[in-house]
Amino acid sequence: MKNVQRRKILLDAQTNRCGSCEGFCCTYQSNSMKVTPVEALDMIEYLKENDRWNEETIESLKKTIEEFRLDKVIALKRGQDLRRTYTCPFFTGDKLGCSIAPEYKPYGCLAFNPTEDGISEWGKCNSQVEILKERENIDEDQYNDYLRQFYHLHWQKEPIPIALLDFWNKKI
Ligand code: SF4
Ligand code: SF4
Repeated sequence: MKNVQRRKILLDAQTNRCGSCEGFCCTYQSNSMKVTPVEALDMIEYLKENDRWNEETIESLKKTIEEFRLDKVIALKRGQDLRRTYTCPFFTGDKLGCSIAPEYKPYGCLAFNPTEDGISEWGKCNSQVEILKERENIDEDQYNDYLRQFYHLHWQKEPIPIALLDFWNKKI
């Protein structure tokens, strides 16, 4: 299934309410986004189409991993890992500052939206969990399993910089 079809329900639900918000959801204040192999490959496809799958981008991934210690896994009780927050390397810092087109963004990014118009402060947005659940009805587990086997990936979901760097190191 194509990237746009897999995101249709999320794209249809966009509220366009972000207004002049600086994008707290993409910074260390809030962002702990993790992606599956399928989502990572969508982002890579977009970067390749825009001549951005290059050393410069890889350096920004590495810088983010180092700055926010994303490669240091801290185990919590009950076997869960701590979700580390980080400023996304694809966040430009400007208004509505994601540099990845919506049709290629991680599902969780698309599902995070303001609860009301004119938000200009941190803390008034949330994840549209019901829509995310509905999107999960599109079964892509098999495709993710196939990618894990084919590329010898040892992860289910990883922070964006870790996931993309792993694919780069596998010469995707
Ligand atoms: S989702 Fe919320 S925090 Fe993120 S850019 Fe929109 S208004 Fe800002
Ligand atoms: S991919 Fe875009 S929307 Fe998602 S965290 Fe990064 S900058 Fe924000």
